[in-house]
Formats: sequence, structure tokens, C-alpha cells
Amino acid sequence: MAAPSPTSGGTSGFLPAERAKCSFNVAALQTMTAVALSTGDQMGKDREIFSGPPFDNEEMKDYHSYEDKFANTLARTGAAVKKLRDPANRKFLMRHMAGKVQMGTMFATGGAASIHFSMFLTFLKTNASKEQNEAWLELAQEARYFGAYAQTELGHGSNLRGLETTATLDKETDEFVIHSPTLTSLKWWPTGMYATTHGVVFAQLVIDGKNLGIHGFMMQFRDVKGHLMPGVEIGEMGPKINGDNTNIGYARFTYVRVPRFNMFAKYQQVAQDGQYTAPPKALSKFRYMSMMSIRMLIVGWSFRDLAKSATITIRYSCVRQQGFKDSTAADPLGDGVGEHCIMDYKMQQYRSFKALSVAYCFFWSAVYVSMFLMRIQSTVASGTEEEKDAAAAELPELHATLSGLKVWSTMWAHTLIEDCRKACGGQGYLRSSGVCNLSTDFAEPATVEGEQVIMSLQLARFLMKSVDDLNEGRPIVGSVEYLKEQPLGKIRMRSWKGETDQLIGLLRDRAARFAKKLSVAFKAATAKGLSFDAAINSVAVLAYKAAECHSAYIFVRNNRLALEENVPDAAVKTALTRLLDLVCLMQIRENSGDWMNALDEEQVDLISERINELLDEIRPDCVGLVDGFGFDDYMLDSTLGRFDGNVYEAIYGKAKQSPLNKTTRMVGWEHLEEIFDHDFLKAGMESQRAGKTAAKL
Ligand SMILES: Cc1cc2nc3c(=O)[nH]c(=O)nc-3n(C[C@H](O)[C@H](O)[C@H](O)COP(=O)(O)OP(=O)(O)OC[C@H]3O[C@@H](n4cnc5c(N)ncnc54)[C@H](O)[C@@H]3O)c2cc1C
Repeated sequence: MAAPSPTSGGTSGFLPAERAKCSFNVAALQTMTAVALSTGDQMGKDREIFSGPPFDNEEMKDYHSYEDKFANTLARTGAAVKKLRDPANRKFLMRHMAGKVQMGTMFATGGAASIHFSMFLTFLKTNASKEQNEAWLELAQEARYFGAYAQTELGHGSNLRGLETTATLDKETDEFVIHSPTLTSLKWWPTGMYATTHGVVFAQLVIDGKNLGIHGFMMQFRDVKGHLMPGVEIGEMGPKINGDNTNIGYARFTYVRVPRFNMFAKYQQVAQDGQYTAPPKALSKFRYMSMMSIRMLIVGWSFRDLAKSATITIRYSCVRQQGFKDSTAADPLGDGVGEHCIMDYKMQQYRSFKALSVAYCFFWSAVYVSMFLMRIQSTVASGTEEEKDAAAAELPELHATLSGLKVWSTMWAHTLIEDCRKACGGQGYLRSSGVCNLSTDFAEPATVEGEQVIMSLQLARFLMKSVDDLNEGRPIVGSVEYLKEQPLGKIRMRSWKGETDQLIGLLRDRAARFAKKLSVAFKAATAKGLSFDAAINSVAVLAYKAAECHSAYIFVRNNRLALEENVPDAAVKTALTRLLDLVCLMQIRENSGDWMNALDEEQVDLISERINELLDEIRPDCVGLVDGFGFDDYMLDSTLGRFDGNVYEAIYGKAKQSPLNKTTRMVGWEHLEEIFDHDFLKAGMESQRAGKTAAKL
């Protein structure tokens, strides 16, 4: 091992030594994760397209002002789009258009491009009529204009039906008049809005004084010189929890007139005489496809950011040494003694392996959901009417599944990312750690696109309906088939080793019991005379829990299925099955009161025992498992998570970049020099000096 020196932390040998202990072929694992993370060989080629300024991470320095950061994201966005148009990068363009690669995985794009290519484009594809797509789609795909997704208002978020913006048909001019009647009707929060030219704006459709509910309208916000269009006021909202997010907007519309053509018309249409054609009942459900697509992406982000955090924490923990192995030794730092690597501490393992195992669990669910959604989307795009009807029938299940996976992947990821940050000790507080900003940045996916309680309540309603279906003899299929099972009785295991199916069975049992418990409680509330909304509210705590239990089961079920179907390499499968067991065991240990029907104290103790054993079994593989995600140093952008383990050089190097470190004279000295005792300082100057050699002992 290298020894520490004035220029080296002496840690360069630590991670290679860890890698030598790994029980499986890391490259085999990387081949699987590369699909979701745009890592691997293909990523290397893609990254070459976006190398150098303005894509370089240095361009996004923490020391830049809010305005500079904003300008840098736009410089990146503009340069990236030019790269996309370069015929040399045609293959990348095709994969990007097919949604197989996201630029955001390679560099921070800024909100305009990310919302355009995700929410806006998907909305266009799923909600525009053929004629509208002819007018708008190709230009949007080529980023010839950018679109925002303007739904939320200052006074109205979760309650979509409460939006106040109006779109009133003017039959004489064949236009809609888009108007923000009150302060609370201002569009508030649309990502990227300050820097988009267009957007889909959601408003109450009003025809002949009759309100026909929320519809989407294509609006242009800026003219050819970047100025606001007449009647449009747009602004940026100012600093958020993530100081790098400089492009979230607000908008006020004052009697803005758009052609009747601009109401999204795939499912519902308005004729010039005001006749309204409602969407066919089954197909109206497809209107929410864009929302579902983004929720699917968010499950992927939960995986990605948690995987990054686990990588940073585990690599750093294998490098960081702290605490004497034998504090009673005469020379605790002497040969054969020394300090522990913090990865050997059990609680460090518990916290970081929890993040690691949950990240892999999210990975498999992200893959599962994306395949599910792609199948539905291709049916919507090119299926027969019968196939479309069948796909529409699957949507309640998909919607419920996605609501739960979005909420619980982001809730757990947010908590675990922050725990990873804390597990890095003081260094985790530094922006250069890479994990510190992941923690604050992840507040966004945890907040947007479906608030956690509202979405959980939606899932809970689906669960209650499924319980009703079961009770009334209607078929129940898909993810809730477990409702048919009887509750588990007392379990008597001698060890939980290798009991993956039994563990998943416990989570399935809990999901079924809580869904049924919820249904009973809800019925009792309505029997007391409460209205539907009041009854739901009265059982909301239980409903939230039932949604969590269902989602926890779906995550591990997907994980189990994927290990069976997608992991041919036996050694990789063994290593990943340990992680799946750990996810289940930790979930059960931390919520053991949920299994009073099945587990007594002795069984819970055995579960804790198995967790302890697993921590030991995972320990030699931990660096291999995080290497398996395939992040390179550029993607991690972390001093602590470097592949080579040279963390101290990196932390020091980053600190040196602070503008305060450019001169030996303290910046701002003039503000303090008058309050200091100059005689005292001068006396010190006379007694203290810099020597040229070490002290003679
Ligand atoms: C970073 C960021 C980016 C965003 N990007 C976009 C965007 O691009 N486009 C866009 O249109 N919007 C966007 N949003 C808005 C976002 O979708 C909303 O903030 C979110 O839907 C929650 O709505 P709200 O803020 O009005 O919260 P509220 O609805 O006011 O909720 C506040 C609290 O009340 C509770 N609550 C509310 N209603 C109920 C109920 N019925 N039952 C039980 N509890 C309830 C909620 O659980 C929550 O705890 C963004 C927001 C953020 C933070």
C-alpha cells in the first residue's frame, strides 16, 4: 500500500484490493445496468459527442452566480442540440428520439431541454391529433422550438380540477381566449418555462358559458427575438432548494388568443360552431399517458441517484480509516495495528448496503415498468381499435402501479440518499462530495409529478376497488392477485438463510392484509354516514400505509422475476439475490409490528441475525457491486466516489479552487482589520516563523 505523503493521501491501493475480493465478474453486471444508465461502451461513444466546453463539469462551477449558472445550462442546451443535428451523430439522434438515451445522464442540461424531451414531447405524441402532429411533432423532435408543461397554478396543484385558467371559445374569430383571471390562477412551477418558446397550457374549456373541464392548449410564449408574446407575462421563480435549478417559471395570460386548432384534439374536439365531441370513454384514459411516462422515468431517476449515492458512500467507506483496531496497544498506529476501514463497521454496512440493495431493487422495477408502458404506448400508436380497448383496460392497473412506484421509489431514495450523505461524515457536507447535492437535488423528483399522499390515496382507491372485486366474485388480475391469498399463520423458521420466497411471501401477505383492513375501515366510515371524500380522509393514514405495503411488495416481486429471467450469470445472480434478501429482511425488521400475525420475537431476532450474516457476505462484493452500476468519474462528479480511491488529493484539489484561496491576503480583510488588536498580531508575527526542516528529536 502507498504511504501518505505531503501530496498523497496514500489510499491508491485500497479500492484495487477491494476489487480483488469480488466474487463475480463485474463486466457481466455492467452489461445489464448499462441499458438503464446509458453507461458502458455505448455511453463512452455518446460522451465523446458531448466532451469539452460547455459540457465540461467545470462550466457549472459552484462559484458561479445564479445568472451565470442559468446561462451555462442554456449554452449546454444550445450546443447539445447542434450536436444532435450534426449528421455525424445521426445514430445518437435516432436513439435519443426513440427515448433510449437521455442527455441528462451525461451532463446537466437545464430544465428547458429536459422537460421538452420528456413531458412536453410525450404529451404531444399522446394527445395531439394527426393534423396537429403534422404541424408540431417533427419540429419538436428536432428541438426547433421548446415546450413546457404548464399545469400547476399558484393556488392549485394537487387538485387539477380546481385550476382557474380559462380557455373560452370565440366562435366569431374561431379562437380560444386564454386568460388568467386571478393571482392564484398564475401558472406556477412549470419546469423550463422561462426558457421555452411554447408550452402545453392546461385550462378550463368554456363554450357558451359552459365549463367542460380541463384541456390542454398549445401556446407560444416568446417571439422570434426572445421577447414575450403579447398578453403573456413569464418569469423565473428564483432560488429553490437546489441552487443549480435556475429555470422554473411562472406565467400570466391576459386574454391571449390562439387558433381553435391549438386545443389538443386527439381524444376530444371542438367544432367552429362550438359543438364539443367528448373522448370515447375507454380512450380518455390515454390522456394521462404523458404523466405516466414521466413517472416511469422518475422510478429510473430514483434508481440512478440512489445508485450514485451508494457508489460514492461505499467507495469512500472503503478508503476512509477511522478508529483504532486496538486502542489498548502501546502504539495503536504501529505495524499490525492501525485504524479500521469504516466499511468494516456494522452500522456503516447497514446504511450503505441498504442504499445499494434498494438501488438494485429500483433498477429492476424501472425496467419492468418501462417495458409495460412501452407495450401500451405502441398499442396506442399503432394498435387496432380492439387492441386499444384492451390496452385501455390495463391502464387502471398501470396507473395504480406507477403511482405507488413513483411515490415509494422517490420517498425511499430521498431518505437513503440523505443517509448516504450522513454516512460520509463531515466530507458528505461538501458539495464536492457529489452526494451532498444528490441529496438536495432529489427533493425535486420526490415533490413533482404527483404528490406522495395524493398518489398514495389514488393507489389505495385502486386497492379497495380490487378488494370489492374479489368480494363480489369479479376477476382480479395483475399485481393485486395476491388478494386471493389467505393471511399467513405463525411462522417457525430456524434460519432465514436462502428463504427469498418466504421473505417475499411476508411482504405479499402484509400488502393483502393492509388492503383488506383498509377496505373494512373505509366501509365502516361510509356506514357511519360519511361522504366518499370524508370517508377516504378518515382512513387516510391506513390508506397511505396500504399503498406503501403494496408498493414494497411490487418492488421485490419485480426484482425476483428479473433475477429469474434476466440474470444468466450464476455468480452475479448469487450476489444480487443477497441484495434482494437484504431489502426484504430490512423492510421486515424495521416494520416488524406489521407481522404480528406471523412473526414472534424469536423470529424477528432470527431476521436480525440473518441481516448481520448478510452484511458479512456482501462486504467482499460491495465495491464490485457499485462498480456494477458502471458510473464513470465524470458522471459521479464526486471527490469521495472516485474510481481510483484518491479522495484526499481530490478533496484538497477542489478546495483549492475556491475563489477565496487565490491570494494569501484574506479576502475582506478590510472589514475586520479595524476590530482586531494590531499589537497582539504584531507580537505573534515576531515570535512565530516558518522553518526549513523538521524538529530535531
Ligand atoms: C421542482 C418542481 C418542478 C415542477 N415542475 C412542474 C412542471 O413542469 N409543470 C407543472 O405543471 N407543475 C410542476 N411542478 C408542480 C408540482 O407538480 C406540484 O408542486 C405538486 O403537484 C404538488 O402540488 P402543490 O404544490 O400545489 O401542493 P398542494 O396540493 O398544495 O399540497 C400541499 C400538501 O397538502 C396535501 N394535500 C393536498 N390535497 C390533498 C388531498 N386531497 N388529500 C390529502 N392531502 C392533500 C398534500 O399531501 C401536501 O402535503 C413542479 C414542482 C416542483 C417543486
